[in-house]
Amino acid sequence: MKIVVLKFGGTSVGTTDRIKKVANIVISYVKKRYKVIVVSSAMSGTTNDLIKKSKNISNNFISSEHDALISSGEQASCALIAGRLNHLGYKSQSWMSWQIPILTEGPHGSSRISKINKKKIIKYLSSGGIPVITGFQGINEHNRITTLGRGGSDASAIMCAKFFKAQKCIIYTDVQGIYTTDPNNLKKAKKIKIISYEEMLEMASLGAKVMQPNAIQDARLNRIDIDVKSSFVNKTGTLITKRKNIFRNKIITGITSTKNDAKVTLVGVKDRPGVAAAIFKPLSKNFVNVDMVVQNISADGRETDLTFTIKLDDSSKTLRLLKQNKKIKYKNIILDKKVSKVSIIGVGMITTPGVTYRMFQTLADNGINILVISTSEIKISVLINKKNLKKAISALHKEFKLSN
Ligand code: ADP
Ligand code: ASP
Ligand code: MG
Repeated sequence: MKIVVLKFGGTSVGTTDRIKKVANIVISYVKKRYKVIVVSSAMSGTTNDLIKKSKNISNNFISSEHDALISSGEQASCALIAGRLNHLGYKSQSWMSWQIPILTEGPHGSSRISKINKKKIIKYLSSGGIPVITGFQGINEHNRITTLGRGGSDASAIMCAKFFKAQKCIIYTDVQGIYTTDPNNLKKAKKIKIISYEEMLEMASLGAKVMQPNAIQDARLNRIDIDVKSSFVNKTGTLITKRKNIFRNKIITGITSTKNDAKVTLVGVKDRPGVAAAIFKPLSKNFVNVDMVVQNISADGRETDLTFTIKLDDSSKTLRLLKQNKKIKYKNIILDKKVSKVSIIGVGMITTPGVTYRMFQTLADNGINILVISTSEIKISVLINKKNLKKAISALHKEFKLSN
């Protein structure tokens, strides 16, 4: 069976007119003699709206009920797609994750797909049907609905491609592919023809919302090539694949940024062994994800300043946990919510010296102060004041010749 998985994101199914266009895309693959599996996200705005409603009801919504709620948008979009395909004379049916079932592991809100039962879908495909599967959701061992984290229908599509051994997995979205930086932030951003899992994973984890990081991890583990393209215009998109398939002469592949970070500085912390562990233990126990960390060398060997970043949403929880922590002593806590993390990503930096210097010099030339730095083999991230974000991205894009 020649199977293709087509995934449509929120904007692609954002209105009934858009859903009619989606049905036409699906039909174009049927005409090419593919057996098509459709995976759809909820109509744009729906999931956010459901989350908002849950907050109006309770700040302590039980996680299993929260998942039952926020996964419901996908049911509507899938039924609308199937309905349109039926209208045009095609056999199609929507499938909720529990009807297949799609089995997941892990906590509510951030589950991962462990298995997809193939039998019913294969039978349906063989009978000439087009299954339209709800992205973003699965069920756990207690038969409760789970969700895969925001943007999780990307992971649903990748795992469908894996379990149904699809020849192609195509992610249809509202941009024409993966760009050197968010094309909605910088007009000069350029479409990348081909990108490695490793670089895409870094870009996704560091703010490129176009693909969910877990989905890229799944694709990389299972060696699934992904095409990312637009559902609005019929143009070649980006291929995400293994590094071996790629030749590139650029040092930097992409630039990303985040808008949801906050910086915490503990001023005058006692400088003794175990102090960092004493600060971070309660944070990790309470699921506060600490990202960048920097500790100043203490001038007198007794006191130091410790700075770290967290997700903006975790700000009040972090302040509360730090203030409650009897094991640490400090003079002051400073919370800065007006920060943004800018990252440059590229496998080319492994073999090219001087990239860090060029990044820092470019920011300095533009009068942009660096607050915190973190690096890995293929990325350099800096924390800067949010007001300088556009300037920083534009200057770095130019410095590393990403528009060429
Ligand atoms: P979908 O609803 O199709 O899943 P998303 O909103 O999750 O779409 O992701 C698409 C968005 O990702 C684009 O509209 C774009 O603003 C954003 N984006 C961020 N970084 C990039 C990038 N490097 N390349 C392309 N899009 C990006
Ligand atoms: N509808 C879900 C969300 O908004 C899943 C997705 O879009 O992939 O996060
Ligand atoms: Mg998405």
